[in-house]
Amino acid sequence: MQIPTHCTLCPRACGADRTQALGVCGGGRQVRLARAALHFWEEPCISGTRGSGTVFFSGCPLKCCYCQNFTISAQNFGREVSTRTLADIFLRLQEQGAHNINLVTAGHYLPWVLEALNLAGPGLTIPIVYNTGGYETAEALHALKDVVDIWLTDIKYVSSALSAEYSGAPDYFEVASAAARTMCRMAGPPVMENGLLKRGVIVRHLALPGAMADTRAVLEFMATELPKGGFLTSLMSQYTPFYKAREHKALNRRISTYEYRQAVNLAVELGLTQGYMQEKSSAKEEYTPSFNLEGVEDKT
Ligand code: SF4
Repeated sequence: MQIPTHCTLCPRACGADRTQALGVCGGGRQVRLARAALHFWEEPCISGTRGSGTVFFSGCPLKCCYCQNFTISAQNFGREVSTRTLADIFLRLQEQGAHNINLVTAGHYLPWVLEALNLAGPGLTIPIVYNTGGYETAEALHALKDVVDIWLTDIKYVSSALSAEYSGAPDYFEVASAAARTMCRMAGPPVMENGLLKRGVIVRHLALPGAMADTRAVLEFMATELPKGGFLTSLMSQYTPFYKAREHKALNRRISTYEYRQAVNLAVELGLTQGYMQEKSSAKEEYTPSFNLEGVEDKT
């Protein structure tokens, strides 16, 4: 594996020399993890009954001001581990009964992840879930094509004004919409077995307060531009004003019942009924796991 000396792993293409310094995402020369444990708060077809073997990577190329995982994404909390340790973590989660390995925001560690999956070898038989904010390059997706079974991606916004203001990424929709199309093409329609997703794409959208026009635009994109029956929709209502959200007037509250009903009705009208609609009562802070380095041990 070669550590990038002029990093272009994500669309920011910040050019960091990762052998010497951290990039804009917080990624350095070694993988950094905040937690690796069974997790029960993903969509039911991912969490199942035994949990998803979820590996939270520290750092993130997106800069969402409301990130519920800000201690790891923005503040880079975590511990460095070798790729051998990462491979062992995958295998240990499988032994613990995980239905899948769920790589959360791993794109800025792509070469390390590929090496760890390779080191884990054919003994790692459960599906690999790539859980991303959708801000991914075409090159990264193609590099993952043969190892990822399930793409769990976001379409957060259509408006570049919103994505610039809230996530520091004016090109977000251009990038994330292209990524979602590519994922649908690569994975094909969802394959379920005993209520668990084995292969396919879940496209998530988190409804934000005061942004119903953009939620409408996102849902319309999903209904008209992504292949019908080619993915599952996950409409989420759990928005809570974390991190720097309160600095933005519109984000300083949870979404209203009226807003959520509007979003759900629109999804139904548009035929986006294959998937999940979260209860509005899911907007609880306890759904954020504690990032306490559980399961992250470097024995090298
Ligand atoms: S992955 Fe990180 S270091 Fe690499 S281009 Fe993106 S922000 Fe920069």
